[in-house]
Amino acid sequence: MSTIVIEGCAIATVDDERREIADGHLVIEDQRLVAVGEGPAASDHTNKAIRRIDAAGKLATPGLINCHHHLYQWATRGYATDATLFEWLVALYPVWQHIDDAVVAAAARAGLASLARSGCTTTTDHHYIFPRHAGDLLGVEIDAARAIGMRFHPCRGAMDLGKSAGGLPPDDVVEDRDAILTACAEAIDRHHDPEPGARVRIALAPTSPFSVTGELMSETAELARARGVRLHTHLAETDDEERFCLERFGVRPLQYLDDLGWLGDDVWLAHCVHLNEDETVRMGAAGTGVAHCPTSNGRLGAGIAPVPSLLAAGAPVGLGVDGAASNECGELVDELRAAMVLARVARGPRALSARQALEMATRHGARCLGREDELGHLSVGALADVALWNLDEVGFAGIADPIAALAFGPTRPVDTLVVGGEVVVEDAELRTADPVTLAAELRRESGRMALAAPGT
Ligand code: ZN
Repeated sequence: MSTIVIEGCAIATVDDERREIADGHLVIEDQRLVAVGEGPAASDHTNKAIRRIDAAGKLATPGLINCHHHLYQWATRGYATDATLFEWLVALYPVWQHIDDAVVAAAARAGLASLARSGCTTTTDHHYIFPRHAGDLLGVEIDAARAIGMRFHPCRGAMDLGKSAGGLPPDDVVEDRDAILTACAEAIDRHHDPEPGARVRIALAPTSPFSVTGELMSETAELARARGVRLHTHLAETDDEERFCLERFGVRPLQYLDDLGWLGDDVWLAHCVHLNEDETVRMGAAGTGVAHCPTSNGRLGAGIAPVPSLLAAGAPVGLGVDGAASNECGELVDELRAAMVLARVARGPRALSARQALEMATRHGARCLGREDELGHLSVGALADVALWNLDEVGFAGIADPIAALAFGPTRPVDTLVVGGEVVVEDAELRTADPVTLAAELRRESGRMALAAPGT
């Protein structure tokens, strides 16, 4: 049994009582927390510790949970930087058509490394482009998460509504519905781990109302429920999408989703920017989660999600960085500040607090992924996914409230990151991969993508 003792730090437990400890300890045995409390750890723990971390001047929080991402987009950043979502997608589909397993592997490693350095211990990914002969794209992403040391919930995404059938994507990037459902079942068979402490869990995720048929949405929901996996998609991101749903289906996006059997507590939805007050209440009543992606929404000018209303309605609202092609970075801790700033621009200074933003990035994220029993809080018995933030430097000096310092203060890489008892970041440096090598691989693959799609 391996024991790690962390002492001398402030702790934001985000546990059931929302305990905050000014000077406390955490003890990890194997992959779980066995003690969280005030002052130094008990001697029966310290005596058998293989590692003691003096965390004076640091803040411990639960590892952050990223609820929405498209890792492959790390290879296609910087395109269509002043475009709406639909314009941006139309510009990028022809580029994405050329992805293959080497591109996805390099992009995933870079994206996961950036997430780890920003305090993220668990991430999802929504991958929905599967060109023929591109290789095992889901497999290389899962290998990348294993190599970086991150807990991973990849979503097998899909598109089956091409332009000729009234959808947005070109016909040559969509797949056949039966092939998609077969691939979804295979992904579950090969990779999904339903056991406590799982490192990899699969979700199913047709992409969006404007790129997927209603039949695929319904049949995917049936498959997911038969197999006990969760459902994810994009919803209500832009005015254009709302217009598309009203014109094609005669209803707003949320009603469309409800009609297809998609409102439930086993579903979480990216964005939900354009929901009215009634719709936020329906989300809360159904227990359907939201992946709020404030920087991406700002970058694409999509609008401001009604986060305070969703939280008041009882909906889980996690945070997401979204794909790095609509947010040229992917550092999750930055989204705490972005969420607060957007909410306050829309609704004033009490719209969203630093503690609420931290709760979204931890507990709410765990609820979105169905892991609230063992992730998103520092409690005895929870998985030992811990972020330690160094607040003992000039950028934070004099900020008395460590949670406000983290949420409002300058961005710094996490000091120490532990995932299931394994140290992934130490002294603000990634220990599982060399960032210089990752950058070189990403540069090479991004260049190859740009050459493959001239004129874009
Ligand atoms: Zn997205």
